[in-house]
Amino acid sequence: MDFKLIVKVVDSCNLECGYCYYFSNIVDANTKSDKVIMSQKIVNELMASFFRHNKNGAGFTWHGGEPLLAGMDFFENLVKSQNLNNTKNLKVTNSVTTNGLLLNDTWASFFVANNFSVGVSIDGPYDLNFKTRNTPADKFKKILEGIDSLVRYGVKFGIICVVCKESVGKEREIFDFYNSLGIEDLAFLPCFLLNNDQSINTKLSISAKEYGKFLVSFFDIWTQSGVKGIDIRNFNEALRFKSNLPNLFCENRSECHQHLTISPDGKVYMCDNFAHTKDNVVGKVGDNFSNFESSSRFMELKRASCDLPDSCKNCKYVSGCLGGCKYHRWVNSRDFSRPQVYCYSKKLLYSHIDKVFDSLGIEAMI
Ligand code: SF4
Ligand code: SF4
Repeated sequence: MDFKLIVKVVDSCNLECGYCYYFSNIVDANTKSDKVIMSQKIVNELMASFFRHNKNGAGFTWHGGEPLLAGMDFFENLVKSQNLNNTKNLKVTNSVTTNGLLLNDTWASFFVANNFSVGVSIDGPYDLNFKTRNTPADKFKKILEGIDSLVRYGVKFGIICVVCKESVGKEREIFDFYNSLGIEDLAFLPCFLLNNDQSINTKLSISAKEYGKFLVSFFDIWTQSGVKGIDIRNFNEALRFKSNLPNLFCENRSECHQHLTISPDGKVYMCDNFAHTKDNVVGKVGDNFSNFESSSRFMELKRASCDLPDSCKNCKYVSGCLGGCKYHRWVNSRDFSRPQVYCYSKKLLYSHIDKVFDSLGIEAMI
């Protein structure tokens, strides 16, 4: 089985977002290293074993902390290492998730030259980023300049927007802000955080009702705006379901277990979302990738990807949702037997889209 990798190249960050789980003390010490940049030795070992294992393609998401803190040399060397080890000539996809603070023309030129796509996390206009991500005005300005570099150089990029309680009711401002940046690709993620005792932090986490309300309102603004060209991942996925097209994203597919995360010091664990679970480490860089398939967490996620909770089995949206993010299922009961935390949001959005389609007298749009 082929794996997809989320590689956390550095453990430090140049922003201090209020909701960042990675720097909170709930993350299991086993999966957290201390301000380490991944060494070239680990990169080379990872590339050697990964390209030896995968047969059909090689997908990398470069992540952190803030991955660009690793520096340009790091990224140039990792591309060299990919080229050296890709003896089967697999299709390689590289994507970087960044907060955008270090983006500039030099990075943009590198991304174009090496066919990297970029995901920039920015949660709408300045006041929201200031509130939820502690982003001061000078840093926010730098981020916008960085995005401008991506636009001018023609880098393929998208925006990742974490939807917080504070975002609800601000849908119009958020839409106008993204529209003013000329972005073409947008994805929403719910702000979701646990307390130290691993109960859900209801003060910071957006509730399913709030998130659903946000999505429905944003959907209406998006469809009624007449603005063409902004792809919104959450809505496209719902529209694909309406058109009986296959789902694209991990949370709506049964391949959760194929995603492995590598920490800067070379530990290998399952999806980063599970970072604070004790048995999440499945091995280390240098191990044979086939070995990871026998770990308990891998087998548990594989089972969960196939076995839906009873309440999902009769849900009319099940083929579009497939139970949603496995982590959001697990966190509810520490097993996978209950619906995901954001089940209600999904139902609200999908039923709203049903109503819109009914009122227009159409069945499918794409
Ligand atoms: S835990 Fe959620 S985000 Fe992670 S791979 Fe599984 S479905 Fe995707
Ligand atoms: S919408 Fe809720 S009940 Fe339906 S498949 Fe998704 S998680 Fe399950």
